[in-house]
Amino acid sequence: MRKQIAAANWKMNLTYQQGEKLLDEILKAKTPLDFHQHVIFAVPFPYLIMANSEVANESNYSVAAQNCHHKKSGAFTGEVAPEMLYSIGIKYCIIGHSERREYFNETNAQLAEKIDLLLGQGIQPIFCCGEPLSIREAGSQNSYVETQLAESLFHLQPEQAEKLIIAYEPIWAIGTGKTASAEQAQEMHAHIRAVLKEKFGNDIADSISILYGGSVKGANAREIFNGEDVDGGLVGGASLVKEEFIAIMEALK
Ligand code: PEP
Repeated sequence: MRKQIAAANWKMNLTYQQGEKLLDEILKAKTPLDFHQHVIFAVPFPYLIMANSEVANESNYSVAAQNCHHKKSGAFTGEVAPEMLYSIGIKYCIIGHSERREYFNETNAQLAEKIDLLLGQGIQPIFCCGEPLSIREAGSQNSYVETQLAESLFHLQPEQAEKLIIAYEPIWAIGTGKTASAEQAQEMHAHIRAVLKEKFGNDIADSISILYGGSVKGANAREIFNGEDVDGGLVGGASLVKEEFIAIMEALK
């Protein structure tokens, strides 16, 4: 079975102490997880080492960075390179979150560079894609997302693509309390998988986890995750609340 993933995206929230306490409490809850169910905490850069040591003895838990730079190293003050993440034992990195695309003008081409550097370090990219409201209202969401995939991922070899995790996050549903319906999520996830099949073949496409993101909470997670091509969620706001995030973990297939 494909890996089912609950990924917490803390964004720029929580102090170090608050983050450590939240992690402690979630781990102490000892939520039963099967071997194919996985929890990833995407925490701010200064908390990565702490978070990694919190999950060090847990087989179902990992830590992700929320971003990385698209160049290998050099004069990029304030940036963090994939090689640096590797050097502290980080195994996953979110890239292309809509907030980075919007506020930091990240392009599909830059994301392709990030993916190459991450894969070169053995770090699995969690690649975010998703359409703004205007595109959804115009009914062009499928081709919009397909272009994001093509411009950032289609240069990969199938054995590289196998390492990807995709997060479909319709921008109109992020942090708005407005969730895509379970049908809308499944429809887009099936489309993404079909695009991946066409490019990388059935076996690879069937092995890639595709997460849904956009106002997932304890109360709606089970219904959304029920979709055949929905392999869990990338969760912002609700990942900051212990009870909510545990309920989301419990909703994994
Ligand atoms: C996100 O930031 O990836 C996200 C989906 O946020 P929220 O769950 O708050 O909508």
